[in-house]
Amino acid sequence: MNAAPADQIRLLDLQAIDSKLDQLAHRRRSLPEHAEIEKVNADHIALKDLVVAAQAQLGDTTRELTKAEQDVEQVRARSARNQQRLDSGAINSPKDLENLQHEIGSLAKRQGDLEDVVLEIMERLESAQTRVTELTARLEHSTVVLTEAEGRRDAAFAEIDGEVAKIRRDRETVAAVVPADLIKVYTRLREQQGGVGAARLYQRRCEGCRTEFSITELNAIKAEPVDKVVRCENCGRILVRTADSGA
Ligand SMILES: [Zn+2]
Repeated sequence: MNAAPADQIRLLDLQAIDSKLDQLAHRRRSLPEHAEIEKVNADHIALKDLVVAAQAQLGDTTRELTKAEQDVEQVRARSARNQQRLDSGAINSPKDLENLQHEIGSLAKRQGDLEDVVLEIMERLESAQTRVTELTARLEHSTVVLTEAEGRRDAAFAEIDGEVAKIRRDRETVAAVVPADLIKVYTRLREQQGGVGAARLYQRRCEGCRTEFSITELNAIKAEPVDKVVRCENCGRILVRTADSGA
């Protein structure tokens, strides 16, 4: 394959541009914010679940308290009715009076027990409320941390993408003047050789694979016609000769 020496040099420019684009793509993929966001997001999801569970617990305990307070109220109402009957003086039979007094006593005991239950539930309700408050605060904090990390990532994206757009315009300018068949070979080699399809021959070395050529090999390479596209014998990349190829 043949290409004018100037086009071969431009291919090195193209290679430099493509390597820069590869670096930027790599930087975009490996921003520290990615791992950070992943971790914060996992915490965030776990916290959301905990908040939902704590709110359910709070709801259950609230209903439990309402029920226990109704139980107390029922006993209190019944006690009050009994007390009224007793105070009305309408009951004369000593046996009935005794029964009524006995029931009033039992209800007082029952009311005391139920009020203890209410107190116990109120304590649990307070714990449940505290837990919801704490978890909600943590969830809000994690939202802030997540938003902040996403903001930093997006800012880094914007900066990288801006640079990429600018370099792509430069690439178009360079690629427009390099012969298409040369670009085709270069592109194929770039895919096969880890992103580097064209390398400079610099001070007897292939800059693609760092192989150092002997004087004899170097002289053979340099003896090729200037418009011949030379390939590195070791790595197969397009080897571009320049004034600094070595002697
Ligand atoms: Zn090489």
